[in-house]
Amino acid sequence: MYAISALREFCAAIGCEYLSEEPMSRHTTFKIGGPAELLALPSSTDMLRRLLCKCRELDIPVTVVGRGSNLLVSDGGIAGCVVCLGAGFSNIRREDGLVVCSAGTSLTELCRYALANGLTGLEFAYGIPGSVGGAVYMNAGAYGGELKDAVVFSRHLTPEGELVTLGAEQLGFGYRRSVYTEMHGCIIVEAGFRLLPGDPEAIRARMDDLMGRRRAKQPVELPSAGSVFKRPEGAFAGALIEKCGLKGRAVGGAVVSEKHAGFIVNTGGATCRDVETLVRLIQDEVLEKTGFALECEIKRTGKTDS
Ligand code: FAD
Repeated sequence: MYAISALREFCAAIGCEYLSEEPMSRHTTFKIGGPAELLALPSSTDMLRRLLCKCRELDIPVTVVGRGSNLLVSDGGIAGCVVCLGAGFSNIRREDGLVVCSAGTSLTELCRYALANGLTGLEFAYGIPGSVGGAVYMNAGAYGGELKDAVVFSRHLTPEGELVTLGAEQLGFGYRRSVYTEMHGCIIVEAGFRLLPGDPEAIRARMDDLMGRRRAKQPVELPSAGSVFKRPEGAFAGALIEKCGLKGRAVGGAVVSEKHAGFIVNTGGATCRDVETLVRLIQDEVLEKTGFALECEIKRTGKTDS
């Protein structure tokens, strides 16, 4: 059994902000999730490195969370240390012709920076509610664009505290995956983007258009984790779910959105167990009625008790 109290003392000693038994429902866009045993908010790469080394020494499991916009966290919460890249990981700079961005920065903030500097290449990402780290991890994408189109490098800390830089060709980008989805325990600290000079008016118009489309088609007014399922080959998950008559189907507070059947929304008090039950129900009915096997895009994390 590990000693979480020793980690608490260590955080206090190195000036790393932390919260004990912090409800993860406060850190996920689904507003679902039990307590993190210890939620640490390191403010620099060096502080994060020290924290990871201590966790390793104490044999404490580490889970990294960005903006929690693609996460379903267990009702029982998350054991060990949850690392949330906080304010110290939210800056953008120019370096060698690239835009280099800390992993905790919101994608929307990065898109606004690009607009303000007349840089094109990330308009598609405007409105994806994740962090840069989470977006690289997931190879987030929308409206024909993906992070891989602009990422030149990504820099991460290994569980041993080593700082490693990977070039685009080493990042193994695919549909909603990257090398990180296969590599356990690495924490992305920053990424470099190649953006091209563009017409600010055209950039703004494209961003406004895409944001308008999001607001019209997605249930952005209710808590969710975005599209629950990956797009199956040759079809759209939302269309298949709608075809099966599942819009509005509910388990507890978890409901298949009436606005977009690919989303499950939390209409109030939904639990992880509700969402998981609804996901299985959808997968079973869609398979039976259409022959398509839907695979989850959202990431389930935390204890296995719900
Ligand atoms: P989290 O949800 O916090 O984490 C996701 C995964 O990334 C976890 O496994 C986590 O451990 C890992 N991770 C996070 N940060 C790091 C890091 N620094 N280092 C290593 N691993 C890390 N996604 C799309 O692709 N396209 C869309 O159009 C889209 N629309 C959405 C609309 C809505 C309303 C919502 C709620 C979500 C949408 N999403 C979409 C999903 C989500 O925003 C993206 O997947 C996003 O990239 C997740 O980033 P995050 O910071 O929230 O990551």
